[in-house]
Amino acid sequence: MLSYWEKQSLLHYDCILLGSGIVGLSAAVSIKERYPDKRLLVLERGLLPTGASTRNAGFACIGSLTEILDDLESMSADDVRALVEMRCKGLRRLRARIGDARMQYRENGSYELLDAEESLALQHLHTTNELLAPILPGPAFTIETRMPSAFGFPEEKVKAIIRNNFEGELHTGMMMRSLIDLALEKGIEIKTGCEVKAFEENGGGVRVRVQHPYQQESVTFSAPQLVICTNAFTRQLLPELDVTPGRGQVLITSPVRELPFRGIYHFNKGYYYFREIDGRVLFGGGRNLDFSGEATTSFALNERIQHDLEEKLRTLILPHHSFTIEDRWTGIMGFGKTKRPIVQAFSDRIYIAVRMGGMGVAIGSEVGSMLAEILRD
Ligand SMILES: Cc1cc2nc3c(=O)[nH]c(=O)nc-3n(C[C@H](O)[C@H](O)[C@H](O)COP(=O)(O)OP(=O)(O)OC[C@H]3O[C@@H](n4cnc5c(N)ncnc54)[C@H](O)[C@@H]3O)c2cc1C
Repeated sequence: MLSYWEKQSLLHYDCILLGSGIVGLSAAVSIKERYPDKRLLVLERGLLPTGASTRNAGFACIGSLTEILDDLESMSADDVRALVEMRCKGLRRLRARIGDARMQYRENGSYELLDAEESLALQHLHTTNELLAPILPGPAFTIETRMPSAFGFPEEKVKAIIRNNFEGELHTGMMMRSLIDLALEKGIEIKTGCEVKAFEENGGGVRVRVQHPYQQESVTFSAPQLVICTNAFTRQLLPELDVTPGRGQVLITSPVRELPFRGIYHFNKGYYYFREIDGRVLFGGGRNLDFSGEATTSFALNERIQHDLEEKLRTLILPHHSFTIEDRWTGIMGFGKTKRPIVQAFSDRIYIAVRMGGMGVAIGSEVGSMLAEILRD
């Protein structure tokens, strides 16, 4: 039972956003920058953001060479360039908004490891650099002159290393902490533990129903506008949308003595990625081993993929080092038939910014800004 005062003063906002991942928070900050007087509420179902934004690898990526070549098989050159440009813009916006120091943004180099078969990609290095030349200040890809053994990688497995000159790494936890702090500083309210079960649009606005955590009744918040930023979980609210979940498996080692590399690394068209963080190795990927099993919103570990990660860690990444695995986790990404995110008005009052395609760290801030631009005054 709600009081008169609660009903009068605590349930009505100018705009409600669902989801406090990087997109929900970035959209809220961009809307507030554009409309400082709007009262904004972000509703998050988890106690913490519980999707991908606090669970990724912290790569600030614009795309590896083999990933871009793979995209060119199904997308036009213009579309591929536009996607890379969106990632660059998103990363610039994120860095300007948060500041490099507050999220430990660093450019220790980004590298792609190629095996014998993938080395054929080197033939397309020059043309790919030309494709991206209009949007980058220099060539995206160069061949690393140091031998794989200089990084500790076995030369019978790694035949070439390509350097991406415009990628970096960040501390995912610090990035999200800073974004939450920024939203709070701007007067945006964030309520956690609020799973939105349903919403309805009526003449005057949108009503959003949240189950009360310890009472039978549900609580209804209302606003003239609703923005849905629930990425992989969007179909629970809008079943007709082309958004499929894709789980990502991650593990992290304890600190490794005399770790021979720093920076961020990809291989196999971006399906695997690893990096140094705090003297440890964080390693994730392998979704391509079990696409259908990983098309889920469950956060469970996939034993087969976790074993594969361990094996690759032992034989490819750290063949000369002893290590223990200290932690494992998963995060859920949102994919669709195309790689473009969905940023659009769903109706007069409801807007959607979802389907980050596994690149929301890079594009999330730009998507938030695009959403703020299409929101009607
Ligand atoms: C392992 C892994 C590695 C990755 N690596 C990279 C990378 O290197 N570079 C890169 O750019 N991107 C990477 N990503 C992708 C990136 O993390 C995501 O694209 C991005 O975080 C998506 O942000 P989001 O805000 O759209 O979604 P999310 O972070 O998933 O946020 C959605 C939020 O909505 C909430 N929610 C859902 N339903 C409801 C509801 N009904 N009511 C209220 N709240 C709800 C969820 O709890 C969640 O907090 C990776 C992701 C994973 C999992």
